[in-house]
Amino acid sequence: MQKERVVIIGSGPAGLAAAVYTARAQLNPLVIIGNQLGGQAAITHEIENYPGFLSISGPELMEKMKEQAEHFGAKVEWDMVQSVDFSHGSPFIVKTTQEDYSADTVIVAIGADPRKLNVPGELDGIGRGVSYCGTCDGFFFRGKDIVVVGGGDSAVSEAIFLTRFATAVTLIHRRDSLRAGVQLQKRFFENEKTKVIWNSAVEEIHKDPTGIVNSVSLKDTVTGETSTLPTQGIFIFVGHTPNSPLLGQELAMNDEGYLIIDERHRTSVEGVFAAGEIADQLWRQVATSVGQGTAAAMSAIHWLDEHEESLQSLTASEETAPAQITLTQDAPQVGPTLTIPRMTAP
Ligand code: NAP
Repeated sequence: MQKERVVIIGSGPAGLAAAVYTARAQLNPLVIIGNQLGGQAAITHEIENYPGFLSISGPELMEKMKEQAEHFGAKVEWDMVQSVDFSHGSPFIVKTTQEDYSADTVIVAIGADPRKLNVPGELDGIGRGVSYCGTCDGFFFRGKDIVVVGGGDSAVSEAIFLTRFATAVTLIHRRDSLRAGVQLQKRFFENEKTKVIWNSAVEEIHKDPTGIVNSVSLKDTVTGETSTLPTQGIFIFVGHTPNSPLLGQELAMNDEGYLIIDERHRTSVEGVFAAGEIADQLWRQVATSVGQGTAAAMSAIHWLDEHEESLQSLTASEETAPAQITLTQDAPQVGPTLTIPRMTAP
């Protein structure tokens, strides 16, 4: 088993910010990348609200964060976590496809994945006209008519981006107003290639005999009327679901699977911290995730300092003791001075 001071699970903005801070604290953190370097931020084509950059592509920003973390001594591994065991306290066990790690502290930054519509024709249409990433797949839709589903910032910004490739982009939204920010809406409505179908839900995705998407069934959410809309591609941006199944029952989470943490980014297990979208249903920005990763790293650094002696004796004797913090959303008091902010998605 490989021994580490700090294991960071996830390589999105939260994980890499935590890596920069723990690396600069001389802790040589190990970052386990997961599915893709940079997480969700890496599939964002253009980021205009990360301070310091007027405009930068998601992959470029995440590559810069990785380089910075490595510059200070972080080890960034292309690997996937298979399971974790936090039940005996520190050192914690993190098993990946390639190695078993024992870590004095763990920072969980595993993020969230695109939510599915869960309609017939969706999953078997991925790569055949169904996509959750404009940056990755937009190029394949040059000269085609496509639809985008959703009414938030992701759907509207990706719809604008997809007009670079598609002939026409139709946004399908289940309500009669968009959740997206005003500036994005302005750009969307000024674009000649875009239009909206309001109050509509996709009920099924259809394909031609070769298995390629050729239309979607829609249902009017007000009148209940159904219709069919021919299209050659469907991009779905209807929010995210947290990647918490990876953690089993090891950490306290809310009903939707988001980790419950306190303002020091402590999870329900002492010595395990969390940051970014796995514990944030509200803000979900690159900048906020970076801040949360930074805070989690600083907490982890303090925690290691405070427990230095006991951790060394544990390592020597290989004895461990369970250590649990009771965190629930309804129990506001955590420790002598900390409270868990109650967060409600907008
Ligand atoms: P979001 O804000 O949660 O929006 C999800 C959208 O999908 C909503 O319009 C929602 O409809 C719709 N939706 C949810 N489930 C649906 C279903 N089953 N069928 C049809 N529609 C469904 O998610 P997001 O757009 O991915 O944004 C997430 C966060 O990232 C937000 O905080 C956002 O501000 C941020 N973000 C920012 C930028 C930027 O450029 N600043 C870009 C991307 C994302 P309702 O509106 O009816 O609920």
